[in-house]
Amino acid sequence: MTAHILKCGLAGWCLLVFPFWIAGGSAAPAARAGPSPGARLPETLRIGVLTLFQPQEITLAAGSRPTTLHLDERPVALLPGRFCRVAKDAGGIALWQGARRLATGTRLAVAAEDVTVEVSGRRTRLRRQFHGTLTVTAGEKHLQLVVTQPLEAVVAAVVSAELSPEAPPEAAGALAVVVRSYLANHVGRHAGQGFDFCDSTHCQLFFGEQWAQWEAGRETGGALSTLGRQAAAGTQGEVLRETGGELTDAYFTACCGGRTTTPAVAFGTGQASATTTGVRCQWCRAGRFFTWTRRVDRQTLARAILPELAAAEDWQLAVAGHTPDGFVTGVVASAGSRRITLPNHRFRHMVGQRLGWNLVLSNRYAIEPHGEWLVLRGQGFGHQVGLCLAGAITQAQAGRHYRDILRYYFPKSACRPPADF
Ligand SMILES: [Zn+2]
Ligand SMILES: [Zn+2]
Repeated sequence: MTAHILKCGLAGWCLLVFPFWIAGGSAAPAARAGPSPGARLPETLRIGVLTLFQPQEITLAAGSRPTTLHLDERPVALLPGRFCRVAKDAGGIALWQGARRLATGTRLAVAAEDVTVEVSGRRTRLRRQFHGTLTVTAGEKHLQLVVTQPLEAVVAAVVSAELSPEAPPEAAGALAVVVRSYLANHVGRHAGQGFDFCDSTHCQLFFGEQWAQWEAGRETGGALSTLGRQAAAGTQGEVLRETGGELTDAYFTACCGGRTTTPAVAFGTGQASATTTGVRCQWCRAGRFFTWTRRVDRQTLARAILPELAAAEDWQLAVAGHTPDGFVTGVVASAGSRRITLPNHRFRHMVGQRLGWNLVLSNRYAIEPHGEWLVLRGQGFGHQVGLCLAGAITQAQAGRHYRDILRYYFPKSACRPPADF
């Protein structure tokens, strides 16, 4: 019932395979120091955009008013309706108009509202509009685009990217608080690359204000929804905090499949926390991914993840261990007397990268051998940590307030408005 409302599906790293219409939650965390209790929220964030596309060249198109690009300290005028190209150049970037190279430099900055960004690949073309400031520099292998904008604008954009505009507002409000908490908690996640967060499900899905994509003759697109803006505005500054005042390490997942788990179990990182233990959830029971079944050819799987076993006709794969509440902790591959054990988070990541993210959908599953096939039967969709989006939507449809929904999935955290810290 919620499938048409919940845009997300494959949590984690799925965007590589199913761009744009499937998202599904903040992905595995990097190690973090964590803000101190009561720390102020960041006012602005730097989002690396078009990070999966890795463009060598972009086109900037002016809107209906004159625009000034700043290439290092030098202003370059872009007349209404005109466009220019920005490409990597020896040691920096170059600005082109037609066959004419206008200028070269190292850093281009422009008011993001004034331009539309377009990138083209062999089969794909993307167009984006952002809010705030857009900077373009030359990374090692491709152009690096960074949008700097207020925290609340990022929250609105992420909620809009994750939920259909028809989703119930209270579910969007709950998601906004979780997204804000995540963003405040992980500032600088990509500091080495010059920004705080990337725009893929590795961090938080972010399309900006307007987006469109053409692929294989098909166009998809959308705009920042009223739902996302209202969810950010209606929960402005609210975050989840633990009893000592520290920000809760908050995540969201597409569908928990009946129970959520902890970052330590799902990601294999961090310490289990008293406030981030999982909860039982029956609100997503009617969801499309409450249970799932997938199958894979054994030899295909062996060649993809354990090529040293691919020659063995009789190799098998089994779940090596579970948590008491049924989450897989590892898998074991065996052939004759050989046994290779993989932690679950590593197994899922390897399968996802090499065979696609639509095979091992969650961290709770069983593996059954069927001749040449392995059949996986599981529950839930995504990493299953934190807010269950399918469940939040059903709770909101039942009339529950966003703070009730948050209390349900984060029973030991408090949702604090800005006045409380
Ligand atoms: Zn990222
Ligand atoms: Zn659920």
